[in-house]
Parts: sequence; C-alpha cells; structure tokens
Amino acid sequence: MSEQIVKKTYTCIVCPNGCDIEAKLRGKEILSVTGHTCPKGEAYVRQELENPTRTIATSVLVLGGEIPLASVRLTSPIPKELIFPAMEEIKKICLNAPVTAGTVVLSRVCGTDSDVIVTKNVGVV
Ligand code: SF4
Repeated sequence: MSEQIVKKTYTCIVCPNGCDIEAKLRGKEILSVTGHTCPKGEAYVRQELENPTRTIATSVLVLGGEIPLASVRLTSPIPKELIFPAMEEIKKICLNAPVTAGTVVLSRVCGTDSDVIVTKNVGVV
C-alpha cells in the first residue's frame, strides 16, 4: 500500500514577514514546499522537516554575586529533541561570583558540539 500524501504548514520565523509555507510529504520524502517568498523560507522548512534544531537562552544560579542569576546561551543550535535534556543539565549549574561574560560553563552539552556560555558579567556583592 502506498503512503498517503500529508500536508504540513509552517509560519516562517526567519524574518518578520512570517510567510505561511506548506510542505507536502509522502512518508519522509518532501514532495514540494510552497508559499515561501524567498529561498530562506524553503531552507527553513526543509531544515524543520529533516533536522529541526533549537537554541537555548536562559539563566543559571550565581552564589555571592551582586545579582543571583547569570544569563547563558548555547554557542550553536542543537537537535530539537535534546532541548529538554540540555535544560536539565543547565539547571544543575551553580556558579560562584565573579562571573565573566564569554566563560564556557558547560562544554559539549548532551554530547553535541554546542557549549553553554555566560552572556553577562556578574560581580561580587
Ligand atoms: S520566506 Fe523569506 S520573506 Fe518569507 S518570512 Fe521566510 S525569510 Fe521572510
């Protein structure tokens, strides 16, 4: 029995235009991508279908700092299915002040090539 053709719709997030894009699939085969008004939109939808990735920007605890949290982010996007495991790892981080922006506080999160880095200085109380 041949697989059914399925339609999936996306709102492109690459730029503020927010084009509605439709993909037609048969199983995992992408038959068509329509509705994008530039090549970036098609690339975005193909990436979402073939290898969706996400990034994280959050905060971690700081002890003895002028503020109790330091903002952190990933150095590169990771596979979407690793976002929750990565957040669990990041939640365990507790830094001692002072904290310097750019410091790597967790390398190769969940076995990926992405590191967690601090994005804000936090001085001592
Ligand atoms: S398809 Fe192109 S123009 Fe439309 S939202 Fe995406 S990036 Fe912007």
